[in-house]
Amino acid sequence: MADLSTDVRTIRGIGDMRAKALAKLNICTLRDLISWFPRRYEDRSALKTIAELAPDEMAGVAAMIATPPTLSHIRKGLDLVKLRAVDETGTLDVTFFNQSWLKNNLVQGQTYVFYGKAEGNLLRKKMANPVVEAEGRREFTGRIVPIYPLTAGVSQLILSRSVRQGLNACEDILPDILPDDIRLAHQLCRIGYAYENIHFPETMEALELARRRLAFEELFLFTIGLRRLRSRREIVEVPPCQDVDMAPFYASLPFSLTGAQKRCVADAMADFRSGRPMNRLCQGDVGSGKTMVAAACVYFLVKNGRQAALMAPTEILAQQHYAGLAPMLEKLGIRCCLLTGATTAKTKKSICAQLETGEIDFAIGTHALISESVRYHDLGLVVTDEQHRFGVGQRAALSAKGNSPHMLVMSATPIPRTLALILYGDLDVSIIDELPPGRQPINTTAVSGSYHPRIYEFIKKQVAEGRQAYIVCSMVEENDEMPDERKAATAYAKMLQTGPLSSLRIGCVHGKLKPKEKDAVMSAFARGETDVLVSTTVIEVGVDVPNATVMVVENAERFGLSQLHQLRGRVGRGSHQSYCVLISDNKNEETRARLRVMVKTSNGFKIAEEDLRLRGPGDFFGVRQHGLPGLRVADIGCDTKLLQEAQAAADALLAKDPTLASCPATAARVTELFTQNADTLN
Ligand code: ADP
Ligand code: MG
Repeated sequence: MADLSTDVRTIRGIGDMRAKALAKLNICTLRDLISWFPRRYEDRSALKTIAELAPDEMAGVAAMIATPPTLSHIRKGLDLVKLRAVDETGTLDVTFFNQSWLKNNLVQGQTYVFYGKAEGNLLRKKMANPVVEAEGRREFTGRIVPIYPLTAGVSQLILSRSVRQGLNACEDILPDILPDDIRLAHQLCRIGYAYENIHFPETMEALELARRRLAFEELFLFTIGLRRLRSRREIVEVPPCQDVDMAPFYASLPFSLTGAQKRCVADAMADFRSGRPMNRLCQGDVGSGKTMVAAACVYFLVKNGRQAALMAPTEILAQQHYAGLAPMLEKLGIRCCLLTGATTAKTKKSICAQLETGEIDFAIGTHALISESVRYHDLGLVVTDEQHRFGVGQRAALSAKGNSPHMLVMSATPIPRTLALILYGDLDVSIIDELPPGRQPINTTAVSGSYHPRIYEFIKKQVAEGRQAYIVCSMVEENDEMPDERKAATAYAKMLQTGPLSSLRIGCVHGKLKPKEKDAVMSAFARGETDVLVSTTVIEVGVDVPNATVMVVENAERFGLSQLHQLRGRVGRGSHQSYCVLISDNKNEETRARLRVMVKTSNGFKIAEEDLRLRGPGDFFGVRQHGLPGLRVADIGCDTKLLQEAQAAADALLAKDPTLASCPATAARVTELFTQNADTLN
């Protein structure tokens, strides 16, 4: 008897040709096939009369072919089949391009359903290239039709028929991996019904039932998998750290830590002493002072005789961390180095040697820290800054350079708790929910492009007072396809320099500059040698120029809220009143709503929640890239309630039956999902 790992070729109706087409979509087994879920659905169930057809509306009609279809060759590569169809209310002229076979397939005097975009006027209705099938067939018309993601050479027809065959083939063998009591308690439909209706729903209600069931199942399995990862981590033992007198460290700071910072440090230290590797996410709004939390951890570990590494996503950030931390830590006897892509081969060699012998205690850098030639004497702590810029794999690569080192992940993008649970499901979370004292709220406004002259005047005034300004632009070419940010930023900087801001010193930085060039521009700005920095979003993360007080964002509608919040966080870092101006000519109500959120609140967590609500998680700083195992149906932005249900169910099951002995099918599926993806998750 077949099982779900059977090759699709063994399915009746799927031959070599079709199998080859499916393979392009990585559909090889029966499971792949039936798990190829529709991207969306078109409700073609209602049929209209020809008279009811409104121009530009997608609709279906049942009509009899009144004239024999004619075929004409317009020119090479363009064939046209024409026919006229009628119902009791009117006449419809139908044309098909390059489907010459229809001439013989469509028979005069028979009734077909045509589904497509109606055109023409009251007297003469037309449809070009409609979907057509014999009345009553109900494969692509007269019902809710699945629309699948496709690739070249694989049509809706092929997919839809293949899936149909696949569903028929596994009717009796679909394992229901949800234990019955859980299924019933959460009012979930059976697996067979779910698969049938996620593909070919009879009604929208049936589709929703199916979707809910499959989403629940995914989240349930996912939770079990995460819980297992965590419990595996709890088995690993590392030598507990000794207590360290932190007084010298604190004494060297120009300020005292905020309560929230102290709490995070205390959380981390408890982990260090616990005898288990730490896996902690430190979440704090921009400017909340995460760096000092990391520094305290580094101090603690190094005083325990171990090494530490801090990995930043960009050259500039790494340098800034180095410039900020090294002088202070060196004074405390901690030997630091900076290792980035820009480090010369000679310096790198010497650094590597010293890391390997343990002469260097603390390495700050970029991806260079995980390059192969880098070995550590005893790497005890790995800190990654601005985590979402890293693939999870990179975090793992750095951690692999030590022997179960402690991990501290710092994220400046406040993530709603539910999402954090998924993205960092096996991490413990500390939250810095308090800003250092004395910060003035940033004055934020959203205006239209007509304010440009006033904004330029304002910038000049601020510069006259000794301040600096950022202008972020994401202007793109007319056709919108491939934004050339470099061109936009350079052209904009030039326009300003030759026009409204000719009296100011303007720098320009964009992603296509070489790291060295980028750094030169950034450093010049940081040293106050330029007044205005025109940039693309490269400045988004972490850069610290306390003297900058103005952040202007052009085409603000192009940015997500969280991104805008990050950008705004670049100002307001010093003692001066700061301003953020969001420029957008977009009148779209949703855009206006988003910008209003920015004006109204400065709380990053609130903004993140709103962002998630307004845009959905797909766009939420690239959640998709995280490669979460098996989440195809569940939408972690919208299904939060379902997620909670699934988590509760998973936890209850694990509490009762930690090894899942009572439900082997569930256990097997979790193992399958998580071994495929193990490296993406930890
Ligand atoms: P982020 O959390 O965005 O990484 P940083 O660590 O860059 O924030 O800190 C932002 C600024 O606040 C830095 O200039 C830092 O020196 C300063 N800072 C950090 N902690 C405190 C504190 N407890 N009191 C005053 N200033 C602080
Ligand atoms: Mg930071």
